[in-house]
Amino acid sequence: MRNDMKKIVYADNAATTKLDLDAFEAMKPYFLEEYGNASQPYSFSRTARRAIKEARKIIASCINAKPEEIFFTSGGTESDNWAIKGSAFSDVYMRTIITSAIEHHAVLNACKSLARLRYPVEYLSPKNDGVITPEILSDIITDETRLVSVMLANNEIGTIQPIRALAELAHSHGALFHTDAVQCLGHIPIDVKELGVDMLSASAHKFNGPKGVGFLYIKEGTHIVPYSDGGAQEFGLRAGTENVAGIVGMSIALKKNCEQIVTNTKHLEKLEKILITNLDVAGIDYIRNGSTTHVPGNISLSFRGGDGEAILHRLDLMAICVSTGSACDSVNTQISHVLQAIGLDENYARGTIRISFGKDNSVEDAHKIVQALLKILK
Ligand code: PLP
Repeated sequence: MRNDMKKIVYADNAATTKLDLDAFEAMKPYFLEEYGNASQPYSFSRTARRAIKEARKIIASCINAKPEEIFFTSGGTESDNWAIKGSAFSDVYMRTIITSAIEHHAVLNACKSLARLRYPVEYLSPKNDGVITPEILSDIITDETRLVSVMLANNEIGTIQPIRALAELAHSHGALFHTDAVQCLGHIPIDVKELGVDMLSASAHKFNGPKGVGFLYIKEGTHIVPYSDGGAQEFGLRAGTENVAGIVGMSIALKKNCEQIVTNTKHLEKLEKILITNLDVAGIDYIRNGSTTHVPGNISLSFRGGDGEAILHRLDLMAICVSTGSACDSVNTQISHVLQAIGLDENYARGTIRISFGKDNSVEDAHKIVQALLKILK
């Protein structure tokens, strides 16, 4: 380990999280000993096959789904692309796809690709707090809508959407409903039956699982075609040799995080309070973006007259990792599409950073961040 690594305050858990140790241990045998291809019929592969079956069961039980409704993928990006393109391509009438203006680029660019193929695509604009209400959807949706895709929680501002009501509205028009739950699975309780969604995307590295693995929940009976062509893995719907170790690690990390949601939420709310209270006491001029219902630990702050990039780099020099907005967007120094969509005043928008605490952050970390911010801002 690098010496200076020990002192780092990592507060960018919305970008990725630290791999859980139990998940790591559970993965090890599938790299070193049980390396058989899970799709081969001989007995050497039986352990790998069983491990996938068990992981599917564990994951299904975490979201109240059936094991046959869980399809393993390479992560959130693939799950989003599959849900959107797979439902569009299964529709011979090329009906409309509706999504929101604040989705992750995995969804937005998948929709852009469909628009290039002449599928009609429409975008929902949120209210100023980032919420997409059923009223906003009802202004656009028609019986010609094939799919509505709205994320469960936003990656930049953490806002949680009223998915159940949106899904009900979509279904009343005969449309499918997909939600990108990448930012909140393992952090808030999720029950696919209660949400009433047809598809839900998830990614292991956002809940202390390994990178490069995720899943798409597809409700039984949903008409969707495969995203890529190849072998018959994943019930003939997702081709490619199974990432056994990744799938096992994901299941262990998800189960653990789901069991700890209440404890973790309490802890994260405490850290949020330390940060916000201290900024208020110091009289800093800032806005906290997003609605009051947000993913625990996700704090998007816009400082009046500030420069988000400069704040990020100064914090980096103090060994503190945060993000300017969305980590997947770090090369883009423009005001993010999310901040534009919520109509944030430019004087504040340019000074935006996202602090995303995780369960491993301490009270001391929160105080260190406050002190560093006060030093920079004053
Ligand atoms: N969707 C959301 C909301 C995300 O935040 C991310 C990653 O940041 C993704 C999708 C992409 O997930 P992955 O990194 O697993 O491809």
